[in-house]
Amino acid sequence: MQLYNTLSAEERAQLIDEAGKQRLTLSFYAYAKIEDPKKFRDDLFVAWNALDALGRIYVAHEGINAQMSVPADNFEAFRDTLEVYDFMKGIRLNVAVDQDDHSFLKLTIKVRHKIVADGLNDATFDVTNKGVHLRAKEFNQILEDPNTIVVDFRNHYESEVGHFKGAITPDVETFRESLPIINEQLKDFKETKNLVMYCTGGIRCEKASAYYKHQGFKNVFQLEGGIIQYAKQIKEENLESKFIGKNFVFDNRLGERITEDIVSQCHQCGKPCDNHTNCYNDSCHLLFIQCDECKTAMDNCCSTACLETTHLPLVEQVKLRKGLQVGNKVFRKGKSENLKFKHSGELSDVSLAVVSKTKDIHQKIKVKKVLVGKTDHYYVKAQVGLFTIEKQELNIGDKILISGPTTGNQELILGKMFVNGQEASEAKAGDKITFELPFRVRLSDKLFKILN
Ligand SMILES: [Zn+2]
Ligand SMILES: [Zn+2]
Repeated sequence: MQLYNTLSAEERAQLIDEAGKQRLTLSFYAYAKIEDPKKFRDDLFVAWNALDALGRIYVAHEGINAQMSVPADNFEAFRDTLEVYDFMKGIRLNVAVDQDDHSFLKLTIKVRHKIVADGLNDATFDVTNKGVHLRAKEFNQILEDPNTIVVDFRNHYESEVGHFKGAITPDVETFRESLPIINEQLKDFKETKNLVMYCTGGIRCEKASAYYKHQGFKNVFQLEGGIIQYAKQIKEENLESKFIGKNFVFDNRLGERITEDIVSQCHQCGKPCDNHTNCYNDSCHLLFIQCDECKTAMDNCCSTACLETTHLPLVEQVKLRKGLQVGNKVFRKGKSENLKFKHSGELSDVSLAVVSKTKDIHQKIKVKKVLVGKTDHYYVKAQVGLFTIEKQELNIGDKILISGPTTGNQELILGKMFVNGQEASEAKAGDKITFELPFRVRLSDKLFKILN
C-alpha cells in the first residue's frame, strides 16, 4: 500500500497539465478527539491519493488542519471521504476564489503534536469557551463601533500585503508570539472594548478567542471562516470590503486578491507590489516581495550576495550551504537588512496602486457569439487543443472565442484544423477537432464562434 508520494513536484505539475482537468483549491479544519492520529493519517492518505487530491495537512490528537487542491471532478467523492468521520459530517470547506491548478503538487499529511503551533497549554483553560463567531456582514458592523479593537492574528509577511483597515498587526513571525503581545498591549481594555480578531481561515482564532476570554477579556469576537470566507461573503452578498489588498496563503499562489488595492512595496525598489517570492539562492530561500523588474535584474534573489552565490558552480554552492538549516525549507520567514522597503508592525491603510485587470471573465463581451462546443483536452507539449463540436459548424477563417474561469476570454482566428484526425476546412456537430493553441485550455472552457 502506498502511503507516501512517489512523484516529484515537477512530474506532478506535468501530469496535471496533461490531464487538463480543473482543480479546486480548498481548506478546512476541525477540532476533535482523534485517538490514533497515525492511523487516521494513513487512512486519509490512501483515500485522498486515490482521488488525486494534493495538499499540506496536519493531523493531531486535537484534530485536523488541511490546505488542499482537489480535481473539480472528484469534489463530491472527496467530500464523501470526510463524511466517513462523524466530526467532519457537513464540514465547511473553504474553496478559494482564485483558482490555480498548481496550488499544491504533493500530498503531504503530517502527524503533529498540535494542528496549530499556538504554544498554549490547553489544560489550563476551557478551549470550548470561544468568542462570538461573526459573518462578514456582522463583522463589518462591529468594525464601525468606536469601541472595537480589531487584531490581525497572522504574521508580518501576511498582514503586509493585505489587512483590515485600522487593524493592529503585530510584528511577529509566528502566531505563538502574538498571543502574549496582544494580551499585554490591550490589558487596560479587557472589560470595556470589543476584542475582534481575524486570521486567514479562522482556525487560529478558534483557540485564541478562548485564551483571551480566559485572560479576562469580556467581549471577544472572531471572524468566522477567516478572510477566506469573508472574501466569499462580500462577493455573494455584495458587501463593502473593509479588508484591503491580498490574503496571503501558503500554497504556490502565495496570495488571493481580495481588493484591487496594492498596499505594500517591492522590498528592493519600493514600487507598489504585493507579489511574494522566495529567494532563488538555495541557502537563503527568504520569503520577500519582489516586482517583475527587480526579479529580472536580480535573478529572483534577495541580495547581491545571494545573486553571486547562485552564479557559483554547484559544488561551491553546496559547500557554502553546509551547516545552514535552510536548504530543506521552501520559505524562510525571516527579515533581511538588504530589503529597504519591508514594512511590519504598524501598517498603513493607504492603497499605493490599483492592479490592472488583465483577465476579468466578468467583463461584458460586446461581441455576438454562439456556443459551438466544449474542451476535451490540451496537449501541453504539442500545444494543441482538442474540442468537441456540439452544435453549429466551424470553418477555417472563423473567429472563435475560448472562455473559462481560469483561461479567461481568448479570441483567435481558426487557421489550420484537424477534423476527426484529418486536416479539413469545416467541422459540424459531433466532430472532434484539434488545432494549435499558444495557451493552455481547461475542460471547463467553452468554445464559441464570433458572429460579425
Ligand atoms: Zn522592484
Ligand atoms: Zn537570498
